[in-house]
Amino acid sequence: MKEVEVPKDYNHENEIDWQATWQRMKLYQFNPDEERPRYIIDTPPPYPTGSIHIGHVLNWLYMDLLARWKRMQGYSVLFPQGWDCHGLPTEVKVEETQGIKKNDVPREEFRRMCIELTGENIQGMKTQMQRMGYSQDWNREYVTMTPEYKEKTQRSFLQMYHDGLIYRAVHPVNWCPRCETAIAFAEVEYQENETFLNYLEFPSSTNEPGVAIATTRPELLAACVAVVVHPDDERYQHLTGKKVQVPLFDREVEIITDQEVDPEFGTGAVMICTFGDKTDVMWVNRYNLDIIEAIDEQGTMQDVCGKYAGLTLAECKEAIVEDLDKEGFLTRKEKVDQNVGQCWRCKTPIEILVKKQWFVAVKELNAQVEEAAENMNWIPEHMKTRLLNWTGNMDWDWCISRQRIFATPIPVWYCNSCGEVLLPSEDELPIDPTQTQPSQPCKCGSTDFAGEIDVLDTWMDSSITPLVIAGWPSPEYRDLFPSSIRQQGHDIIRTWAFYTILRSLAITGDVPFKNVVVNGMVFGEDGHKMSKSRGNVIAPEEVVAEYGADALRLWAANSVPGSDVPFAWKDVQHGYKFLRKFWNAFRFVNMHLAGYHEESADDEKSADNIKSALKPLDQWILSGLNQLVGEVTQAMEEYNFAHARNRIQAYVWHDFCDDYIEAVKYRLYTEDEGESKQAALYTLNTVIKTSLKLLAPFTPHFTEEIHYYLEGYGSEENDLEENDLKYGTQGFRSIHQETWPEVAEDLLDPVADEIGSIGVEVISQLRRFKASRKMPLNTPLKAATIYSSSPEVYNQLVTLQEDIKGTMRIEKLMITEGKPDVREIVVEVTPRMDKIGPEFKGQAPVIVKYLQSSDPQEIASTLEEEGYLDIEGSRITSDHITTTKELVGRTGEKVELILMEELGLVTELVI
Ligand SMILES: [Zn+2]
Ligand SMILES: [Zn+2]
Repeated sequence: MKEVEVPKDYNHENEIDWQATWQRMKLYQFNPDEERPRYIIDTPPPYPTGSIHIGHVLNWLYMDLLARWKRMQGYSVLFPQGWDCHGLPTEVKVEETQGIKKNDVPREEFRRMCIELTGENIQGMKTQMQRMGYSQDWNREYVTMTPEYKEKTQRSFLQMYHDGLIYRAVHPVNWCPRCETAIAFAEVEYQENETFLNYLEFPSSTNEPGVAIATTRPELLAACVAVVVHPDDERYQHLTGKKVQVPLFDREVEIITDQEVDPEFGTGAVMICTFGDKTDVMWVNRYNLDIIEAIDEQGTMQDVCGKYAGLTLAECKEAIVEDLDKEGFLTRKEKVDQNVGQCWRCKTPIEILVKKQWFVAVKELNAQVEEAAENMNWIPEHMKTRLLNWTGNMDWDWCISRQRIFATPIPVWYCNSCGEVLLPSEDELPIDPTQTQPSQPCKCGSTDFAGEIDVLDTWMDSSITPLVIAGWPSPEYRDLFPSSIRQQGHDIIRTWAFYTILRSLAITGDVPFKNVVVNGMVFGEDGHKMSKSRGNVIAPEEVVAEYGADALRLWAANSVPGSDVPFAWKDVQHGYKFLRKFWNAFRFVNMHLAGYHEESADDEKSADNIKSALKPLDQWILSGLNQLVGEVTQAMEEYNFAHARNRIQAYVWHDFCDDYIEAVKYRLYTEDEGESKQAALYTLNTVIKTSLKLLAPFTPHFTEEIHYYLEGYGSEENDLEENDLKYGTQGFRSIHQETWPEVAEDLLDPVADEIGSIGVEVISQLRRFKASRKMPLNTPLKAATIYSSSPEVYNQLVTLQEDIKGTMRIEKLMITEGKPDVREIVVEVTPRMDKIGPEFKGQAPVIVKYLQSSDPQEIASTLEEEGYLDIEGSRITSDHITTTKELVGRTGEKVELILMEELGLVTELVI
């Protein structure tokens, strides 16, 4: 091995140089022509907000760990990166920054502004991802707003339309009055809040008594189309089929019955409005009731609301309640909790409007989606239940049309003469039907068309990612489909996961992926969701600047899929310290490895020689290393990243750095280049190299840097500097091109494990002893005898004799069975002047002189036997003195005892 100047301190700023080097080496480029087994990651395409947050750090770390680990295991890994561009937040941002409303400029112009902003945002996020050391193949980047991607989204639309799985219909839809668009059920979020339940009198049209109903939505009174009661409710049976007046509005509605009414709620009678909620929709369909459209797209009251027309929903509610009260219709108000559906993007309460919209026929495919989900491997398993709960409750189809601009256009025209729907052919795609006309006339002969101005839900773009990364629709896509793994957050199971499975089944007949890894969320240090208002947001770049990407990665790796994780500075700092500890250990080992010839260990005969020369602690650390390899590999297979990381860290930090290196130093600092030193060097070299490989997916930069020096790339004669790169690439083989270690079964050794742990325990006891006496660790000890009460431990200790002796610098070490023969003697007698002075007055000096000049042990013996001591007539007892005692061994020398009860050992030391 060549001499290399290794920097004293590890500098995490070098991470950037390694990132540039890897890019230059095209290390992560996927090659579809390779024969190796494939591992394909269906990466989430984030929304380009402009910066990644700490949740992304966690999410992408899992993918990067898997990608790096699989590459080392010999897989050809496809780790692409996409961007899910379309959607409202960008439109709003553009409106804000340009000071316009979307309809102030032509649609094309508005789109151009959105594209420009999105492009900048992607660039920023890409740089941040690269700074984290994530190993995506950037040649495989996809961007949903490009013509190439839109072509695929539109093609998938055409295919499903032709297969009868997409249709256009008038149907109640969830509507966000803030975003002014229809949204899918999956995009409705429920929020608990408090509201008033209003008790209203509906007077009878004749002279009979009316009916009292309870409602939380009096503002929809204008859209009341019936009153409904439970058929078995005795209070109302006589009213069934009768009519009542809608208060404030000069209209009559019928009283009908239905099993779904809860007689316990309110008065047991409720009004049906079009539409207060989903139940209203069901009743309207079931009883074929009229539909009264009371609100428009912005949530403003319509003309049918009479004097309330033009008010917002909230204003209308206030005014109606006031009028109801004034007119005597409102009898009571009571506070109740309610679950309000709101828009997941802007948190505005959603309304249900009746609109002509495009739908995906979810109900047709639901059973297949459930079956597919059952056959996938969900990590953690219980996330599957979330999807199945969602599919189990599905009673509306997926509304896919949106009344927005920045999105993939719906590729459809309508004939202005006969109303026929026309679609382009596949080779005309992508199209914007508002910009181009059909290539042929309508079958009625007309050439007068209106292009669809609605656009597609952005989930229509992102739900084909596994197809897009595989190269669909080119027939070869089958080679890279389905993906090996889908990684995503649990907040988008009923959207992204559900839609992708559904669309993949619809388009290909197959499942899109085999494994679904669901990551948790990251909370602030205070345990709350990170938010600007709480001031607990941690920006990844802030952490990276101070501690480096690897330390942040070590924090993120201390978690498992599915669990929410709090951010913790102290964990990042712990990771930072661990890397410095490893660096220092490496520098020390590297200094000694300069004289080590690894090549000789490669040839079989020499390897056998070295293995037979291994000492018990070598066997112990190597056995531990191979157990580590097995455990880490298994943890990775189980996606238990935290366990893998923690095991590596504990082994390297404690077993290797604290115990093993300390215990072999005496073998390295010797002139003798014999077997013992070679065995130690072989062991050190093996442990460092294997640990680096295990750690490489977790801390790619740090391990690369050590690997670089360890393999001699930093030496003078191997100067690879190239252009502006700090680290050369020519002839350089990265640690990320190495093979994942395998368990060397012949080195797993339970006997060595036991002996080693005894040795490590004895040595650390002796170290603690020295430390407690403030003795430097290299202080020689004159002699030590270790007494063992167990013959088995005695035998094991004998094999460790040299290591204990050498490590603790004991001049004479004996190991023996039995118990030490020690006794306590008094070595000093100190007169207590506070007692002797007052009691003996003039005699005191004589007494003190006697006590100080006599043998302390003899004084102690006399006192013990006689109970007193006579000094020239004065009677001295043990009350007049204090004594200092010491232990002495068989030879009479002063000794110290260290007890190790668990192992049944007593060590007798002569310092
Ligand atoms: Zn909204
Ligand atoms: Zn026509």
